[in-house]
Amino acid sequence: MLRILFLGTGGSLPTRNRNPSAIMINREGELLLFDCGEGTQQQMMRAKTGMKALTSIFITHFHADHMLGIPGLIQTMSFLGRAEPLRIYGPQRVKEFVKIFSELGYYKLRFELEAIELVPGDVVVRDGYCIQAIETDHSVPSLGYALLEDSLRGRFNREKAISLGVPPGPLFSRLHSGMDVEVNGRMIRSEDVVGRIRPGRKIVYTGDTRPCDSILKVSMGADVLIHDSTLASDQEEWAKESKHSTAFEAATLAKEAGVDHLVLTHISSRYTDDVSPLLREAQSIFENVIIAEDLMEMDIPLKK
Ligand SMILES: [Zn+2]
Ligand SMILES: [Zn+2]
Repeated sequence: MLRILFLGTGGSLPTRNRNPSAIMINREGELLLFDCGEGTQQQMMRAKTGMKALTSIFITHFHADHMLGIPGLIQTMSFLGRAEPLRIYGPQRVKEFVKIFSELGYYKLRFELEAIELVPGDVVVRDGYCIQAIETDHSVPSLGYALLEDSLRGRFNREKAISLGVPPGPLFSRLHSGMDVEVNGRMIRSEDVVGRIRPGRKIVYTGDTRPCDSILKVSMGADVLIHDSTLASDQEEWAKESKHSTAFEAATLAKEAGVDHLVLTHISSRYTDDVSPLLREAQSIFENVIIAEDLMEMDIPLKK
């Protein structure tokens, strides 16, 4: 399973229908949080995600709308008796941030809390996937993140193996792992019974940023690109000044990168009643685009 849950999709401040930034990825039951704006733990409760399976929080930058939810979430997890370690990744000063709120809150945490500083290009390697830190262009030190799954072995054609005389059992797994085997003096090649390697899925989350080459590069062929889309083009000057992107700019980048889906997020409060200006201009460039909404879920199927 690879599911994206949009817990907070508002830009800079909360509105009546959008929480500040927080995006959760559920990969095979493990929960990863990207940004953790104010109120994220309540959104997790509304979405019934639980907290135990949360292993890591990746912070894009230390503007309040991306990290204010962390102290409360930590305290709640400690209160609920969490024992599993939690890792918080972020750009420079993440260690200081975690130290300050841990000390000021007089927490007596029952679980290990580790802060890990990342720079662009760093890769956090996990079992079956990795998280890559991406250079972004915002008004303060910032990172974007890409989740890249490992390639999957091709499908094993059981019927064909049997028809070639291979007895079900250990020889099946040898063939599936790429080894050729001998049956009754005859060589059976792995490639005859195993399909081609399937590429892993890729999700990119930009955080707050101007469109930039590093994001374009990592987004090539991504299944989903979740891009800053704070403003519409009539506010382009302000987007440049505040180091955000317009919907048009996000769509232009998505088209160039050839992504499957573009999801626009970090929506300014000026579009609280009507997001159609953002959607219209994005669709004029790139068809497969949606505007994120709080508590929206998106399943990413395996590539064929
Ligand atoms: Zn922001
Ligand atoms: Zn920001």
